[in-house]
Amino acid sequence: MAITAKLARLAPKPETNHMLYGPTHRAIQNALSQLIEKEINPNVDQWERNKLFPAKTVFKKFGNLGIFGVNKPTEYGGLGLDFSYSVAVAETMGQVNCGAIPMAAEVQSDMATPALAEYGSDYLKREFLMPSLTGEVVSCLGVSEPHAGSDVAAIRTYARKHNDDLIITDTAEIFFDNVRVPMRNIIGDEGRGFFYQMSQFQHERLVAVAVLLEPLSKIIDTTMEYARERQIFGQPELNNQIVSYQLAEMRVELESVRSLLYRAVLEKLSGEDVTILASMAKFKAARIARSITDNCLQASLNGHIVSRFYRDLRLFSIAGGCDEVMLSIISRHFESK
Ligand SMILES: Cc1cc2nc3c(=O)[nH]c(=O)nc-3n(C[C@H](O)[C@H](O)[C@H](O)COP(=O)(O)OP(=O)(O)OC[C@H]3O[C@@H](n4cnc5c(N)ncnc54)[C@H](O)[C@@H]3O)c2cc1C
Repeated sequence: MAITAKLARLAPKPETNHMLYGPTHRAIQNALSQLIEKEINPNVDQWERNKLFPAKTVFKKFGNLGIFGVNKPTEYGGLGLDFSYSVAVAETMGQVNCGAIPMAAEVQSDMATPALAEYGSDYLKREFLMPSLTGEVVSCLGVSEPHAGSDVAAIRTYARKHNDDLIITDTAEIFFDNVRVPMRNIIGDEGRGFFYQMSQFQHERLVAVAVLLEPLSKIIDTTMEYARERQIFGQPELNNQIVSYQLAEMRVELESVRSLLYRAVLEKLSGEDVTILASMAKFKAARIARSITDNCLQASLNGHIVSRFYRDLRLFSIAGGCDEVMLSIISRHFESK
């Protein structure tokens, strides 16, 4: 809990009546928010021009705050808190003025490391989890292959045993050619990787929804401000009912997704299987990310933050299980009842 105490000093704990977030959530969110405001957002435009952001430097800053390990065990450098804290962090991470950095951070905390933390041996956790939580290493998750994206079971990468090692062969963007990996690096039980990845996906999908809330809210606010200032046909654009009603409807959709997310998180915390709620939330969040960015781009043609998110948020209908995969999970569930 040492890092939590550090966070509490960095940011005072405000009182809160939030259904999911208490004072400690708010302290963590405030500390992260300050870091984003002072050290990330002022640089985002330049990093975008460079087509590169200094992941190692940025990740150490996130790691120092403890945000990569909020729900990871304390013995490996985590804060030992529950999943609601991961969701709180993801929501605040959405304050970064682009899609790539929050996504890279969430890969580190909620996509590449949950299975390692849950099923990995003590050796693996010390070797790979601990430096991931401090941000010393940048971790990634290689699931997709040229011939297998949505259909994860179709992956062709294989490992053969040789003495105490595994020899991995693959032909994807990351090229493995007889790469030797010690057998002790297998996470959990041999042959269970697919199952671990499938359960890790639920975690990843809820966090993906949380990371979308802030940018969507920002886009709607930015568009409303623009429409209030912009004069067309002798009056502010916002005076057109079609514009103001569309913005109102976007807010309804956003708050509906937020409610679905919080309900799924509360049910997950009480031990329920939230596969269906997580799939519904991920599907709907990705869909409104497309419609909101599209409608706001139409209404505020030159808003550069809107254009950037129009590009960056498109990912959510594709990765982490595309929209059709979410729909197939949901429809299979109801049709098999
Ligand atoms: C920016 C970005 C970052 C990524 N990062 C990672 C990463 O870190 N690690 C990683 O492993 N992968 C990553 N991916 C890959 C991503 O997970 C895959 O793109 C995704 O799983 C979809 O797979 P695919 O591209 O092979 O498309 P396919 O699965 O071949 O899908 C092609 C088309 O079929 C549709 N489709 C799929 N299933 C159905 C269905 N049941 N019914 C009808 N239509 C369907 C899809 O909507 C799509 O239009 C990333 C992708 C992007 C764009």
